[in-house]
Amino acid sequence: MTGTRVAIVGGGPVGLAAALFAKRAGMTPIVIESRDYDGDKACGEGLMPGVMPLLRELDLDPPGRDLLGVSYRQGARQVDHLFPGAPGRGVRRTVLVDAMRAQTERQGIERIHARVTGLTQDSSSVLLRCADGDDVTSDYVLGCDGLHSTVARQLGLVARPSRRARRYGLRQHFQRTPWTSMIEVYYAGDAELYITPVDDETVGVAVLGPRGINLSTTIARVPGISAKLVGVPTASSLRGAGPFPYRVHHAQSGRVLLVGDAAGYVDAITGEGLRVGFAQGREAIAALQAGQPASYPQRWRKVTREFRLLTRGMVALASSPLRESIVPLASTAPRVFGAVVNRLAQ
Ligand SMILES: Cc1cc2nc3c(=O)[nH]c(=O)nc-3n(C[C@H](O)[C@H](O)[C@H](O)COP(=O)(O)OP(=O)(O)OC[C@H]3O[C@@H](n4cnc5c(N)ncnc54)[C@H](O)[C@@H]3O)c2cc1C
Repeated sequence: MTGTRVAIVGGGPVGLAAALFAKRAGMTPIVIESRDYDGDKACGEGLMPGVMPLLRELDLDPPGRDLLGVSYRQGARQVDHLFPGAPGRGVRRTVLVDAMRAQTERQGIERIHARVTGLTQDSSSVLLRCADGDDVTSDYVLGCDGLHSTVARQLGLVARPSRRARRYGLRQHFQRTPWTSMIEVYYAGDAELYITPVDDETVGVAVLGPRGINLSTTIARVPGISAKLVGVPTASSLRGAGPFPYRVHHAQSGRVLLVGDAAGYVDAITGEGLRVGFAQGREAIAALQAGQPASYPQRWRKVTREFRLLTRGMVALASSPLRESIVPLASTAPRVFGAVVNRLAQ
C-alpha cells in the first residue's frame, strides 16, 4: 500500500486527522478543502478524554483548558460527575485546525484549495471534479466533507431525512475568565446550553435545539449564565450548523469511503463528534492498508455503535415529556448518570 494515493475531500479536523493517519501508514494523502478559512465552525469544542490518545498518536497536543467532567443543570437542580481518568480538553476550533494544518505541513502532506463538485470511479481509480481548481485522480477517496456531504450525495448514499424533529446548533465565544473546569450543560426550555472553557480568557457557548433557536434568548433563560455573560464582549462571530440528524445508507461505495460527519451524524448532544470522527479516520486508513475498502462499513459500525445508541437515547429523552425531569432523575440515580459520563469519557 506504500505510495497509495488517497484524496481527502474536506480539510476539517476529521479530514486532517485522516490525512495524518494515511501518511503514517506510508500512503500519499492530498487534502482538498473548498473554503479559504480559519477552520471555525459551530462546535462545543469539548475534546472528550477519549480524543486525547488519538491526538497523541498523531503527535498533536493543541493548547486549551482541561475539562474535568460534566455538570448537568436544570432549574435549581444540578448533577456533576468527574471523568474517571485523564481530563478532556476545551480547545478552540481554530486552534485545533491550526495545529493539525501545521502538522500536515511538517509531514509534507499536500493541501489544495478547491471545491469538489463531482466524482466518477472505475475499478482502479477515482476522478474528482473540482470547481476553482484542477481535477484530481487518486487510488481512493475519503469523503470528509461534513454534514450534508457532497461526496455522499454524488454517490447517491444520502438517506431521506427521518420524520424525527430536526435540530440545529449555534456557537459563540465570550471574552472572560472561565469560572468552571467542567462542561456545563443547562436544559433551558426547548434548548440545551453548553459552556466550555477553551482558554484562560475565553468561554465557548453552544446551543442545541429546534429550528429558530436563539443564543441570547437561551442564555437569558439561565439566570446563572446570563449574570456571567450579559455585557461581556463576544470573541467570535455567531456560527450555526444543522439540521441533524443526517443519515447515509452506507459508509462506502467502491473506492470511496465516508468519514466523520459526512458518514452520518445523529446529534451534538453527547459532544463526541471529534472522537468518533478521528476513530473513523483511523479505521478507514486501516481498511485501505489491508486492501479491503469494503471492510470499512463494518469497522465504521463498530467504532460508532455506542455513540449512535447513546446519542439517539439522549435525544429521545430530551425530546420526550421526561425532558423536564432529566436532571432531577439523574440526581436520584447518580450511578446511572456516572455510567453515562464514564462512557462519554472513553
Ligand atoms: C453545536 C455543535 C456542538 C458540537 N460540540 C462538539 C463537542 O463539544 N465536541 C465534539 O467532539 N464534537 C462536537 N460537535 C461535533 C463536531 O463539530 C463535528 O463532529 C466535527 O466538526 C466533524 O468534523 P468533520 O471534519 O467531519 O466535518 P467539518 O468540520 O464540517 O469539516 C468538513 C470540511 O469539509 C469542507 N468541505 C465541504 N464540502 C466540500 C467540498 N465539496 N469540497 C471540498 N471541501 C469541502 C468544509 O469546508 C469543511 O472544512 C458539535 C457539533 C455542533 C453542531
